[in-house]
Amino acid sequence: MSSLTETQKKELDTLAVNNFREYLKIPSVHPNINYEPCVEFLKKQATSLGLPVKIYHVKPTKPIVVITWIGTQPNLPTIMLNSHMDVVPVFEDNWTHKPFAADIDEQNNIYARGTQDMKSVGIQYLEAVRRLKQQGVTLKRTIHLSFVPEEEVGGVDGMQQFVHTKDFQNLNVGLALDEGMASPSEEFILFNGERCIWHLHIHCPGNPGHGSLLLENTAGEKVAYLLKKFYEFRNQEKQKLKDNPSWTIGDVTTVNLTQARGGVQTNVIPPELTIAIDCRIPPESVDIKKWEETINQWCKEAGSGIWIEYEQKQPQVPSTKLDNSNPYWLAFKEASDKLGIKLKIQIFPGGTDSRYVRALGIPALGFSPMNNTPVLLHDHDEYLGINTFLKGIEIYCGILPVLANVENRTG
Ligand SMILES: [Zn+2]
Repeated sequence: MSSLTETQKKELDTLAVNNFREYLKIPSVHPNINYEPCVEFLKKQATSLGLPVKIYHVKPTKPIVVITWIGTQPNLPTIMLNSHMDVVPVFEDNWTHKPFAADIDEQNNIYARGTQDMKSVGIQYLEAVRRLKQQGVTLKRTIHLSFVPEEEVGGVDGMQQFVHTKDFQNLNVGLALDEGMASPSEEFILFNGERCIWHLHIHCPGNPGHGSLLLENTAGEKVAYLLKKFYEFRNQEKQKLKDNPSWTIGDVTTVNLTQARGGVQTNVIPPELTIAIDCRIPPESVDIKKWEETINQWCKEAGSGIWIEYEQKQPQVPSTKLDNSNPYWLAFKEASDKLGIKLKIQIFPGGTDSRYVRALGIPALGFSPMNNTPVLLHDHDEYLGINTFLKGIEIYCGILPVLANVENRTG
């Protein structure tokens, strides 16, 4: 193993930034993404790394690209470095730079959709592997760099189905790394779990009639009762967050009224009103069965005939354990301590592809090495500082060898 010279490092930094910008310029933006340019780009990267690449599909036109660096003990469970190729739409008028031009401003920040979420991480994995290989490092465990489609629309035609295929099983994943989030402070955030998503449409039927009367059993009264209950609960959760300064939004249950439908005109009491509630439930601290019973109880109290249609009702997935039972966590912690980076553990507030991996009982950690950076995922003017981006590659150079050399517990 040899360390890199200053000249080599400079060349590698330039290459990394060029690759990052090239990837950002591919408009793999929803809806109806053409993933072919991403696949071509990644194939080219695999060639330049001298690594094999495979393309899997759970649905035509939705490729899953896996670049593999085989370890010296290829039978050991592997490390999966996952990132998604797709990005969310842009409102171009609100951007000060073209969102797919990857401009660099005077502060050395790169502007583009995907700089934070999460083309940066995909390239950082690739460039870390490039550097390790160039230094002649060999690792025990195989590393799979997976680039998946459709994460931003729930991963249904991507990771959600892929984890149930023989192809995924054959990857023999022992640990997955996936996206985290930028951190405005010095600390880096590590996510070991996420909340599950429930999207409910609550149908409230009632007596229709003239808007001038005071009829019994109207849809509006039922909606009013339910909203009172949901918003009382919401206030309690808000208070919990206030009372526990170390908590984040991932530690509480959130409910929000997001849609209200029904009615034909102002002087007619409608036969039905429907409210949509976006609800996110933490992984361990909430008894999800009890929560469902509570909602059902509120519906009963609100009046007759109310029924719930679940647009989404995800199961509660246990968080990845961060204790002595998880050798990958111990390795991750050891490596980050050695790098001198401070980790803050959190529950991811939204949903990522990690949940599908965790649901199989495979540990997964959400980590995007971007500290001192405003959180701009899905926002206008998404950007990342070049220095932060390059530092992230160094961080992976420190972490990956330790992870990929974790001893097998069964010997
Ligand atoms: Zn993302």
